[in-house]
Amino acid sequence: MGSLKLKGVRKSFGKFEAIKGVDLDIADGEFVVFVGPSGCGKSTLLRVIAGLEEHSEGNVEIDGRIVDALPPAKRGIAMVFQTYALYPHLSARGNMELALKQEGVARSDIDARVTEASRMLALDQLLDRRPAELSGGQRQRIAIGRAVVRQPSLFLFDEPLSNLDAGLRVNTRLEIARLHRLLKATIVYVTHDQVEAMTLADRIVVLNQGAIEQVGAPLELYRRPANLFVAGFIGSPRMNFVQGAAAAAYGAQTLGVRPEHLRLMGTGGTWQGEVSHVEHLGSDTFVYVDVPQTGTLTVRLDGEAVAAPGAKVSLSPVANQLHRFGPDGQRLAD
Ligand code: ATP
Repeated sequence: MGSLKLKGVRKSFGKFEAIKGVDLDIADGEFVVFVGPSGCGKSTLLRVIAGLEEHSEGNVEIDGRIVDALPPAKRGIAMVFQTYALYPHLSARGNMELALKQEGVARSDIDARVTEASRMLALDQLLDRRPAELSGGQRQRIAIGRAVVRQPSLFLFDEPLSNLDAGLRVNTRLEIARLHRLLKATIVYVTHDQVEAMTLADRIVVLNQGAIEQVGAPLELYRRPANLFVAGFIGSPRMNFVQGAAAAAYGAQTLGVRPEHLRLMGTGGTWQGEVSHVEHLGSDTFVYVDVPQTGTLTVRLDGEAVAAPGAKVSLSPVANQLHRFGPDGQRLAD
């Protein structure tokens, strides 16, 4: 059990409206990721769901029950924060047990739950250590363990990996994906990291200035972004946008082409230009081409590709991979 419904949720801080009427239905067992630029309201919306922030209008419903008037502890949720929020004077075990003790869960049940969560997250060896004696990744696993033992109907994650270095971030991301598979739990997860959103989510919610721009499966957003905002936000490197005559030739106000959907050739392509800069990442090569008709275009090639600044090149978009947008920025029918 763990469905979540948001109905017309608004949140103002004084005169500033941080959440501008959000409607969203999340099914039991779904992994939903909120993404969007800094300040778009991701954390505020998550905190409203948790009950840490009181919303100004609308309803939050968990498992069919309106929880607007309930404090966080009574909502059947568990939250994992970016900063771990562990109690420094308690051991890892103490941190995991605390909420259960406060709820009056029986000792034998507490032990069983901590043992199971520890096995799941490979925490067995760490239980007697205090937070100061743990690495950042270990602390976050304890914080996740503390959420797991509560057996909530809904897990809320607020940028749980942002304080970890790149390698640990990948490992912990895989842990969270595995945990979701094992527990079949409902998870709402906030991140500004595209890779996390694309790899973890069943559905991604793209937020912008307190409103939803699009909700969909990761590949749906990548293949058919509903508007210019989503097109520019999902995908890295960013989609190329072309306006003017070069877009009008395709019947669009703005034409979008992803860097991986541009073909580079010596001559005979759609647009002619000159290579201005090349970046070798090992796995990929990014080539920046100055094209008089379109402006600079980014091209993504494989890691072995050779290109040199100053080279005259010709570019063609892959025919069925073009994104056309109208004057209002909305996607035009394919
Ligand atoms: P980030 O990715 O930078 O964490 P976010 O999308 O999570 O951003 P929020 O933290 O939800 O953004 O903030 C949304 C907006 O609400 C921001 O403009 C922020 O300045 C504003 N805001 C958040 N909390 C408060 C508050 N307590 N008082 C006034 N304004 C606030």
